[in-house]
Amino acid sequence: TNVRNAGDQLPRYVRVNTLKTTLEDVIDYLKREGFSYQGHANGIQDLSGLSKNAFICDLHLPNLLVFSEKTDFHDHYLYKAGHIILQDKASCLPAFLLNPPAGSHVIDACAAPGNKTSHLAALMGNKGKLFAFDLDAKRLSTMSTLLLRAGVTCHRLANQDFLKVDPLGADYKDVKYILLDPSCSGSGMVCLRDGSSEQPEDQAQTQEASRLQALSAFQQRCLSHALTFPQVQRVVYSTCSIHTEENEQVVAACLQQNPNFRLVRLLPHWPERGLSPHTHCLRASTTKTLTHGFFVAMFERQSNGSQAIL
Ligand code: SAM
Repeated sequence: TNVRNAGDQLPRYVRVNTLKTTLEDVIDYLKREGFSYQGHANGIQDLSGLSKNAFICDLHLPNLLVFSEKTDFHDHYLYKAGHIILQDKASCLPAFLLNPPAGSHVIDACAAPGNKTSHLAALMGNKGKLFAFDLDAKRLSTMSTLLLRAGVTCHRLANQDFLKVDPLGADYKDVKYILLDPSCSGSGMVCLRDGSSEQPEDQAQTQEASRLQALSAFQQRCLSHALTFPQVQRVVYSTCSIHTEENEQVVAACLQQNPNFRLVRLLPHWPERGLSPHTHCLRASTTKTLTHGFFVAMFERQSNGSQAIL
């Protein structure tokens, strides 16, 4: 179908795992293998139409290489050795934007299979504490393998419902950063979308609407819970959904309930914004950013009295 094709036509993104190697070493390795290095991209248009053996550095994210849609690294040595992570560009945004410093205490609330966890660990230089939770034991076991391969050592995995994690627990008293990437409809994942259905149209629409309402309520609870950790300064919220119910509406409800937090204006040069009035947030899509559909918001605690001063 057309939708399936849209996914196949996206550039392939490769995140260099700085816990194991450097951008320069990966570029050299690939050049020696016959890939042609094109330097840094200047605009989004440079990311599409790359020839089969060409690659380029992304313009928004550091340590991110871009290849043609025909490139597949699943059998490549660099992937098997954990030197590179195969991760869509949009899904690299949350950890990059949260940017926890080395030594900090961080929660990845819904973490499996752990691509964002390993990205956080890389940004922290494996220094500090990275608490990762997930409800699904099977996904967590995949995650352990992935983190081992990626050389992550600063994490502590728990098969636990994030909503039941006690914000006042002694372990979390120094947590200043939370990444929240909860279950969502996945409507932004173009290769997973399938237009065909046996159901009558109106019945399917009603079911879809109630599914979105349930997801939206769950996402709001998770986000509100994240905002209750006593020392938390920044919470990044992301979904791979294109539905406003799971994105701007969740953000709006949480802002209203938590007047001590505000949105951080993210990447001013990013080409696609959250729907008005939430333009501080980012959206991503196959057409405007050449990625899967995605949404990111970042909440920041207002420092005491700053409301009065500003
Ligand atoms: N952040 C992950 C990554 O980048 O690899 C992807 C996370 S996926 C979108 C959402 C995850 O949330 C699923 O693995 C699901 O099992 C988990 N989950 C759902 N409800 C949860 C809850 N109440 N507490 C913790 N994890 C939950």
